Amino acid sequence: MRNPNIVILGAGYGGIMTAVNLQKSLGANDANVTLVNKHSYHYQTTWLHENAAGTLHHDRTRIQISDVINTSKVNFVQDTVTDIKPEDKKVLLKNGELSYDYLVIGLGFESATFGISGLKENAFTINSINSARLIRQHIEYNFAKYNNEAEKKQERLNIVVGGAGFTGIEFVGELANRVPELCKEYDIPREKVRIINVEAAPTALPGFDPELVEYAMNSLEARGVEFKIGAMIKEVTENKLVFEKDEQREEIETNTVVWAAGVRGNSLVEKAGFEANRGRIPVGDDLRPEGYDDVFIVGDCALVMNEETERPYPPTAQIAIQQAEQTAANLTRLIRGEDHLEPFEPDLKGTVASLGHNDAIGVVFDDKKLFGWSATAMKKIIDNRYLLKLGGVPLVLKKGKLNFFH
Ligand code: FAD
Ligand code: NAD
Repeated sequence: MRNPNIVILGAGYGGIMTAVNLQKSLGANDANVTLVNKHSYHYQTTWLHENAAGTLHHDRTRIQISDVINTSKVNFVQDTVTDIKPEDKKVLLKNGELSYDYLVIGLGFESATFGISGLKENAFTINSINSARLIRQHIEYNFAKYNNEAEKKQERLNIVVGGAGFTGIEFVGELANRVPELCKEYDIPREKVRIINVEAAPTALPGFDPELVEYAMNSLEARGVEFKIGAMIKEVTENKLVFEKDEQREEIETNTVVWAAGVRGNSLVEKAGFEANRGRIPVGDDLRPEGYDDVFIVGDCALVMNEETERPYPPTAQIAIQQAEQTAANLTRLIRGEDHLEPFEPDLKGTVASLGHNDAIGVVFDDKKLFGWSATAMKKIIDNRYLLKLGGVPLVLKKGKLNFFH
């Protein structure tokens, strides 16, 4: 009898952690495990805002897949998934196709643009190494260009960030650190540069602890971030952003809009015919969509309901990693001929968000509030713990955040 084929799509948190756990739990002759990813590297999405602002080089964020995969147990295919055909148990790639007995989908998120006029064409998003590197270079180019034009254009120095969720807040925090450095480098007075965060809800970080939200806004405003709260972005063009606040239409001249105002699951999963809600596929507690016993969905493509709140769990790396661990354990059970699968029960350890490299906020262990140095240190501990799981001590030493005083 031939070995079963397990195909894992995407090497984000969900995909790569499924592969790394399977290579520990399965022998080389138990199954053929194949991991497919667009790039030769895995990246830590949770650090991309730093790469986009230019406070951390993207080579710190990416990890060569060959450095963490045991190639005698996992076959790595660098290719782009173009179609998933669950009825035929096949996956189409740009350069070939794969058949599977078990499929794990971990293709991650895309920006949700809600049909806003001009957004797709004119705004940047933070969702890959390529997109983050482009934002960094675009901002630097505009600073460099500013003093090379007879007519000084303010639109080059207005950086607008759409959405004050965790991504938007973390990104403006990095910008607040980076802009003074750029001003020195390009001979631009700091007061000429504006960092503007536009949020539609009546508060930044809607739903988060109000005391910590206030702390975050004070910290960011003190470092020159302007907030437009209750302001709904309506349109983006090449050189302006339009929003509506208190029924008034306002414009900001800018050629740098970074859209951080929402995510959805990768559109490939919807295209495959699974029932979807904003690109996320409802799955049972074994992380399989109804009617597909051979398909597991991990990370931002999966929609898991929290029975207590009757709302879906948010798409986070924390949950993607736990889903990957559970999926690898359940696949191992199936390969060994067991039919009982363990249910997914997220063990939520809290939320910590950075406000630049020297400040942060967080709630951990149910209700312990953190801010300032302790939150910054906690964020680094979380990041290092992930690297330890992925590649052991050598990876922590190579890529970890080990300086707790900066
Ligand atoms: P991803 O990490 O998005 O990985 C998907 C992978 O699939 C990528 O490697 C991609 O290249 C690959 N891929 C995509 N399409 C294809 C294709 N067609 N073919 C082949 N490969 C493909 N969550 C937290 O818990 N804590 C945080 O501090 C935190 N900070 C964040 C900061 C930022 C700036 C952002 C944007 C998000 C943050 N999140 C955080 C959310 C978290 O990053 C996501 O929930 C997480 O990345 C989801 O993991 P994933 O494995 O589903 O997908
Ligand atoms: P989000 O959906 O959490 O926040 C988007 C924000 O944009 C919301 O506050 C929303 O009100 C606002 N918005 C939507 N449409 C708008 C419009 N037209 N104009 C102005 N504002 C608008 O998205 P996110 O911040 O990208 O986060 C995505 C996921 O990643 C979440 O689950 C989040 O928890 C997670 N994440 C976690 C961390 C962390 O734990 N440190 C950091 C980043 C992201």
